[in-house]
Amino acid sequence: MPNAFGYAATDASAPLKPFSFERREPGPRDVKIKIEWCGVCHSDLHTARGEWGNTLYPSVPGHEIIGVVTEVGAHATKYKVDDIVGVGCMVDSCRVCESCRSGLEQYCETGFTGTYNGPEQGTGANTFGGYSESIVVDEDFVLRIPAGLDPAGAAPLLCAGVTTYSPLRRWRVGPGQRVGVVGLGGLGHMAVKLARAMGAEVVLFTTSPEKVSDGQEMGAHEVIVSKDAAAMATQRGRLDFILNTVAAPHNLDAYLELLGRDGTMVLVGAPASPHPSPTVFNLIMKRRQIAGSLIGGIAETQEMLDFCAEHNIICEIEKIPMRQINEAYERMLRGDVHYRFVIDMRSLRDEDTV
Ligand code: NAP
Ligand code: ZN
Ligand code: ZN
Repeated sequence: MPNAFGYAATDASAPLKPFSFERREPGPRDVKIKIEWCGVCHSDLHTARGEWGNTLYPSVPGHEIIGVVTEVGAHATKYKVDDIVGVGCMVDSCRVCESCRSGLEQYCETGFTGTYNGPEQGTGANTFGGYSESIVVDEDFVLRIPAGLDPAGAAPLLCAGVTTYSPLRRWRVGPGQRVGVVGLGGLGHMAVKLARAMGAEVVLFTTSPEKVSDGQEMGAHEVIVSKDAAAMATQRGRLDFILNTVAAPHNLDAYLELLGRDGTMVLVGAPASPHPSPTVFNLIMKRRQIAGSLIGGIAETQEMLDFCAEHNIICEIEKIPMRQINEAYERMLRGDVHYRFVIDMRSLRDEDTV
């Protein structure tokens, strides 16, 4: 008998719709969470529509989860009933490989368990994400939400926040550096706020002229509309670091040229099809680097949440009822997100669903 309810995609072309499924009963080290808010990440859309070619259907997306603890296992000690907690992109990993032991569970050498799309450790079974009423998670993969953070606005920190925080820390972004952020969507708007709070001079690149003033309000010192060649030319060779969050293939050379000697562009956007290959000369002439980065580890996610509480950083969100998820995906594809949709999970069982 299914004991859980949510919204799922049943194949790559189907809209998300109500779906009943089975969740495990909490084990000794598990926490059961009633989900209150769930952010809508572009990765949810890539997965629901099978764009990365690895989707296990039916697929219940959602990995920016905030909720309330309703049950704790007999040997779980970190959380108690009524605590406000978060769950991000991972719910498990092997725990013993070098990456896991270094707090880099996202790079687990045998593959971490995604909050959705599995595979569960040991069984390889699918996992179901946060577009649902509750979730059961090992306490080691549950995050504490600092009291000062608004729960709905904090939800996207669990993916968009940590995915941008992690490379900014790894590449030691801080005072005296000029940092470019490409794309003002869910990830990009967090990158602007975080890089600014870390003390960098922030230059935002957007394809959307109507987002310029928002970018400035979020903390960008300069905003460049990337379609404006003359404006792009003013930045040539002047950036130390670029965080590229764009969800679609594009010309990377346009940004590589903006890096100075030894500058690095980190790609976090994960488009369904490859970027055109950049020109090798753009790399070798100034010893520039292109790198990638995947979400962040559990300890680092907690560090990011605490950093946001300390610096008064929260996501800019638009709350939606569950039934509007398919429309939200379409708006996301048009770049019409300001700047993260967050589903109010109290609306999950509203009558006028699909
Ligand atoms: P999003 O909210 O849709 O933002 C993407 C932004 O990219 C858009 O708002 C837009 O900003 C810009 N953009 C420019 N050209 C675009 C185009 N042709 N199509 C779409 N966007 C375009 O997405 P997100 O949730 O921030 O995610 C961004 C990407 O990161 C996705 O591919 C997602 O899967 C990936 N991701 C990766 C990780 C990781 O661990 N590496 C984690 C989470 C997400 P402007 O209007 O300002 O140009
Ligand atoms: Zn995500
Ligand atoms: Zn591991």
